[in-house]
Amino acid sequence: MAIIIDGKAIANEIKEELKKEIINLQQQYGKKPALAVILVGNNPASEVYVRMKKKTSEEVGINSMQILLDEETSQQELLKLINQLNSDNNVNGILVQLPLPSHLNENEIINAIDPVKDVDGFHPVNMGKLVIGQDSFIPCTPYGCQELIVRTMPDIKGKHVVIVGRSNIVGKPLASLMIQKNNRANCIVTVCHTATKDIGYYTKQADILVVAVGRANMITKDMVKDGAVVIDVGINRIDDPENPGKTKLVGDVKFDEVSKVAYAITPVPGGVGPMTIAMLLKNTVKAFILQNNN
Ligand code: NAP
Repeated sequence: MAIIIDGKAIANEIKEELKKEIINLQQQYGKKPALAVILVGNNPASEVYVRMKKKTSEEVGINSMQILLDEETSQQELLKLINQLNSDNNVNGILVQLPLPSHLNENEIINAIDPVKDVDGFHPVNMGKLVIGQDSFIPCTPYGCQELIVRTMPDIKGKHVVIVGRSNIVGKPLASLMIQKNNRANCIVTVCHTATKDIGYYTKQADILVVAVGRANMITKDMVKDGAVVIDVGINRIDDPENPGKTKLVGDVKFDEVSKVAYAITPVPGGVGPMTIAMLLKNTVKAFILQNNN
């Protein structure tokens, strides 16, 4: 049976470290890091994420500002707000909760965020720096995946990481992260997607398998090498066969059977999810330090 990688516990350790760091920062600078989270509209999943971000920020001592905007907010209004936050010295991090309503141009909004306040790491400047190995804000979910990987497998040099999914928020930045020449990476990376013919052929070669697709239970035991580390990013709500009429959350990996062959595996929920928020807080503290040392 695989080791269960307890993302919640690791995220709690990171939050405890941040709490101490924030107390020191407050003594040094007389103020605390501040994060502004913008939510446009009433997407129920986004509302939950935004609430969790506020709650967790406050737990570690980050000032959290929630800006809830009407579904009908225009592109110009949102851009104006971002510009105001960009020039507000009391705001260190700006996060626009995605997805945005379909009438808004997501790329233009992300591009408007000052890269030094882009704690989600989605601005092209930060993405570009990540690719060429310069210090940047690393997107929170890949950053959390890397943290789980290095804590589970300390010497990952030369390991084969297979990533299923190539989204801009998970697969692509994670691939860039894991090929960097440093001691938290230095891996061989393969990325699979919808044009990959036989996904199992690739996943079976993975020492470290990361799945970020959004298809419940897609990765089965026969697709995983004995002894692999498996990181399941997927979050899928399905009908719960054990509780008729109820639903439950599952990942992209068929946990019950893959946990019999893997060396270590993340659960869903309680794996990557809590790490994403912890890394957002880490990025916010980093933004505060950068802005106060310039
Ligand atoms: P996304 O933007 O929809 O991207 C999905 C990726 O999976 C795409 O690259 C797509 O390929 C690929 N894909 C889809 N079906 C496939 C198939 N049958 N075979 C191979 N590849 C396939 O999704 P995302 O935003 O990256 O999110 C992925 C999952 O992770 C979702 O369940 C999401 O809820 C979850 N998630 C969790 C967290 C967390 O904090 N835990 C954070 C972010 C996302 P193409 O590019 O070819 O279309």
